[in-house]
Amino acid sequence: MDTIEKFNQHVMGTYGRLDIVLDKGSEQTATAEDGKEYIDFGSGIGTNSLGYCDEQWADAISAQAHAIQHTSNYYYTKIQADFAAKLCEQTGYNKVFFGNSGAEANECAIKLARKYSFDKYGKDAGRNIIITLVNSFHGRTLATLSATGQDVFHNYFFPFLPGFVNVEANNISDLKAKLAENKGKVCAVMFEFVQGEGGVCPLTQEFVDAIFEECAKDDILTIADEVQTGIGRTGALLTSKLFGVKPNITTLAKGLAGGVPIGACLADEKCCDVLTKSTHGSTFGGNPLACAGGSVVIDRVSDPQFIAEINRKAQLFRDKLAEIDEVEGVDGLGLMIGVRLKTKKAADILAKCADNGLLILTAKNKLRFLPPLNISDENIEKGMQILKNILDN
Ligand SMILES: *Cc1c(COP(=O)(O)O)cnc(C)c1O
Repeated sequence: MDTIEKFNQHVMGTYGRLDIVLDKGSEQTATAEDGKEYIDFGSGIGTNSLGYCDEQWADAISAQAHAIQHTSNYYYTKIQADFAAKLCEQTGYNKVFFGNSGAEANECAIKLARKYSFDKYGKDAGRNIIITLVNSFHGRTLATLSATGQDVFHNYFFPFLPGFVNVEANNISDLKAKLAENKGKVCAVMFEFVQGEGGVCPLTQEFVDAIFEECAKDDILTIADEVQTGIGRTGALLTSKLFGVKPNITTLAKGLAGGVPIGACLADEKCCDVLTKSTHGSTFGGNPLACAGGSVVIDRVSDPQFIAEINRKAQLFRDKLAEIDEVEGVDGLGLMIGVRLKTKKAADILAKCADNGLLILTAKNKLRFLPPLNISDENIEKGMQILKNILDN
């Protein structure tokens, strides 16, 4: 039985997969079982932020595996303390809760926001509504699916969790109207600065400013879902810095630990002590291997020189895309790139790219690139040549 046959016989068919079995990787290149090599512009949906098997990162994780790989959260570990301290110091937050995924980070944010209002205003006040945006994506658990503002996700699994109201992204009057309709009942507004799965759609500065102004008026918490946009992806450690705002809560996951499972919910001084003993938990949360990987990522990404290189490479991508006739326009920030095509279908192009040794992603009807943050100029150029040959033929 070959790998794909064995796989499909035993693993639930929840994903649409290409017929490629990836076996190993180095820097920005993945190698398949059959020896074929692929330049990777997707990096495992933005998780392999330092590329495949970065030496410093792999050494840190294997050293940690030889020291202590896991312990329950009944005890302390130095690696979790060190990583949490670095993460808080670099992001400007007071405290963190660690989980294992983006959905889990967002679950924590949802619980935190509801408990913040419960503690302060009481159960009877019913301040439990969280405003999220149309076309958002916050995860696959029932709560985060309920938060997700896309109807296609609200199927099969009824009943969904109540208490989420959707506002159209970049529509300030809709935001104000929904806040007014639910006055005194809203505990938080949750949003992505750039909607990733929704099609690489950035919020406008005006809309972001309006969220913060409106929330400040009524003690409503701001929650930035930076699961995809965070940790250097958009050309700053956090995208909130590019918008000049400081959300009460920021969630992180994908790229945070360079490709091992992690989720983090960061909270500011206003709400960092809301989740008290026994109100939340996660067996694997703060796992030493994940913290070891995350420590290497944070050290690298918090170097201003590394961030400057992300922005230079982001421009190189845009320059190369401008040379392709079929490209109608480019959306996104930094190395979170969405490409609008004039006539061709994104899904067809993704398949053709793979045939020609380039792995990309799509989001809605756009091509999407989330390359490793340290991708080489050479691999950007090689990958873009493959893309140009496909698009302009
Ligand atoms: C991927 C993603 C999630 C979900 O993360 P998982 O690790 O798959 O649970 C949540 N929010 C955003 C913005 C994402 O891009």
